[in-house]
Amino acid sequence: MRVRDIVITGDPVLHNKSQPVTEISDYIRNLVEDMYLTMDKAPGVGLAAPQIGIPLQIFVYDWEGESGSYRNVAINPQLEISELEERPADSDNEVEGCLSVPGERFPLVRADKAVLTAQDIEGNTYEIRAEGWLARIFQHEFDHLQGLLYVDRLDKKNQKSALKAIKEHGWGDEGLSWSPGEDFLEP
Ligand code: ZN
Repeated sequence: MRVRDIVITGDPVLHNKSQPVTEISDYIRNLVEDMYLTMDKAPGVGLAAPQIGIPLQIFVYDWEGESGSYRNVAINPQLEISELEERPADSDNEVEGCLSVPGERFPLVRADKAVLTAQDIEGNTYEIRAEGWLARIFQHEFDHLQGLLYVDRLDKKNQKSALKAIKEHGWGDEGLSWSPGEDFLEP
């Protein structure tokens, strides 16, 4: 097992749809172990396979809230979400970040409710009806598997700021990554 490098925005692996997992092999089991390690080390509340350069439909998450503790893998996930409210995002309570846009945070409206259906590491299908932050995490990670980053969903003003920040960091090109556990350095 090892901590993997996290791919930074601009690499095609983050901007294209990932492929379904056809068999939960030793390769997949090892990959998922590495994903947990990398998520914990980063640290983050979720990590999708394309973020470590693997274009497969897998994400892991780790979140504790009033409704309980949730730590699992979602293989070939499907997501149903409640209606998205058309309003400005709350810059105090709806601020999101992403390990592939490290250090930056922007507010974004997400659906309040989401139903995740996925396979676990044994291949058993499970369902979670999530609300609030857990629903947000599921939407964020599910988006990664569709080739979407949260910055792609920001409103005009925030997207402008995000693109400016990405440019200032020198990101937006293929092959950039950072290593969790080491101090984050500008590439
Ligand atoms: Zn992310």
